[in-house]
Amino acid sequence: MKERKIILAEREIPRKWYNVMADMPNPGSPPLHPGTKQPIGPADLAPLFPMPIIEQEVSTQRWIDIPEEVLDVLSLWRPTPLFRAYNLEKAIGTPAKIFYKYEGVAPSGSHKPNTAVPQAYYNKISGTKRIATETGAGQWGSALSFACAKFGLECTVYMVKVSFQQKPYRRIMMETYGSKVMASPTNTTNSGRKILEQNPDSTGSLGIAISEAVEDAATHDDTKYSLGSVLNHVLLHQTVIGLETKKQLEMVGEKADVLIGACGGGSNLGGLVLPFVPDKLGGQKIRMVAVEPSACPTLTRGVYAYDFGDTVGLAPLVKMYTLGSQFMPAGIHAGGLRYHGDSPLISQLVHEKMIEAVAFSQLDTFEAATLFAKTEGIIPAPESAHAIKGAIEEGKRCSRENKSETIVFNLSGHGYFDLSAYDDFTNRELVDLKLSEDELKRTLAALPQI
Ligand SMILES: *Cc1c(COP(=O)(O)O)cnc(C)c1O
Repeated sequence: MKERKIILAEREIPRKWYNVMADMPNPGSPPLHPGTKQPIGPADLAPLFPMPIIEQEVSTQRWIDIPEEVLDVLSLWRPTPLFRAYNLEKAIGTPAKIFYKYEGVAPSGSHKPNTAVPQAYYNKISGTKRIATETGAGQWGSALSFACAKFGLECTVYMVKVSFQQKPYRRIMMETYGSKVMASPTNTTNSGRKILEQNPDSTGSLGIAISEAVEDAATHDDTKYSLGSVLNHVLLHQTVIGLETKKQLEMVGEKADVLIGACGGGSNLGGLVLPFVPDKLGGQKIRMVAVEPSACPTLTRGVYAYDFGDTVGLAPLVKMYTLGSQFMPAGIHAGGLRYHGDSPLISQLVHEKMIEAVAFSQLDTFEAATLFAKTEGIIPAPESAHAIKGAIEEGKRCSRENKSETIVFNLSGHGYFDLSAYDDFTNRELVDLKLSEDELKRTLAALPQI
């Protein structure tokens, strides 16, 4: 029998996170205050985040201990399995070996609890009573709701209105974990009211929901803010994915030639690839590929510049690939990939040509997703389908070049809450939404002058 699953014992859960900041080839650009445009310090972030998180955000220590209390919760589903995708390989007729790390076994169905749990923990030990956050498709909101329930914290979720209406099951999941969920823009914050005044029918965006959650945290003493992607500490927490993957590949005597992840804010991609950065810097031939939707092509068509993390301009300015903070992504089903910006760490590594980026259309990714479902069985999250499409294209390249490379992709989550999107695909109601050059010019013209 062929071995499909490479399984680590529970005692092999990583005990430390890997911090790529210790090994970045060049120093990064500091985040700036949105008002003064001067570099910010820990004191500026203190209204939003507890101190242990702020310390991790700026830390350059290579290995950071994972607290026992966090490991205890992570062990509910970690280590996660690494699969050899024999069936997919056969279906596309590639000589390549394709592996996928499956993060969908987590309680809320994606990689996001890997950071939600430590964030809730550090808030708990710092005296926080409530966490405010935003969610797009609902993956992050569900993960944080679960984590807050584990550590006895209240949780308020500003959910992008279009998703709130389209994805009632995600809302129900968050409410089951005990969270309060509101459709953003709301009329409970100044940011939300400002947007509604301009456009009463606004269906919301991640940028707007972030503004609301940040304002909520900044104006309540017992409340902090939490972000599920983009920031350095989030990528740090996600490195358990790549650290486990490395061990699993060693167990079967493999070395990755290509690592692939879908990229929204960069956390599941970073989680997979960052632990391999020292190998690459040490001379190992290993490609890292970020896959994004052509409807929100931040890395492939955006610019590398300082921009606001949110729509209203309350969040710090960070240097990243961006489509402009006024960018309104088309209503594609990969809600987690609809952010105008990207992780500063991933952006820098793309800028320095350590990581490559490609974009695929919605229809192409759903085609890849259904091939994966029919062959490997798991119905993937629409976000993860981008990584699958990336892996299939690499597999086809290996066929053309007659190479038997080892391709590893991150299957960041399952799609069992996204079935209406599959319904639309099956009924041929899904369309490709491309970003026009004019629209891009308009949103990039509004970038802040730094
Ligand atoms: C949120 C999400 C993503 C995109 O976010 P990243 O921070 O880029 O990882 C990808 N896949 C799934 C399943 C998600 O929930």
